[in-house]
Amino acid sequence: MLTLQCPYCGVWAEETELHAEGEAHLKRFGPGSDDADFESYLFMRENPKGVHFERWRHSNGCGKFFHAARCTMTLEVFGTYPAQTLEPPQDIKDKISAKQPGWSWRDFS
Ligand SMILES: [Zn+2]
Repeated sequence: MLTLQCPYCGVWAEETELHAEGEAHLKRFGPGSDDADFESYLFMRENPKGVHFERWRHSNGCGKFFHAARCTMTLEVFGTYPAQTLEPPQDIKDKISAKQPGWSWRDFS
């Protein structure tokens, strides 16, 4: 069973205490954007074999949203961090790079 630590309350929560909210770090488009941008925001999602960044909610706990970095092949969790960030903290990126040489953060901006 997947277990993630909520970065807000510090609780190690099992998957049943959490709610998956999809892909993390989606770029949102505002007024004036074209249909292709809006379509990509609504429908286009990553489904990688490897490192993936996900948005979770501690639904049966503090109720806050957070992000988790994990590997979809090994199910290893590299870390969790608050959702109000544009990219993962450096320590998590370093942990991923150490495990998977050649990996680099994809800039979403
Ligand atoms: Zn929490």
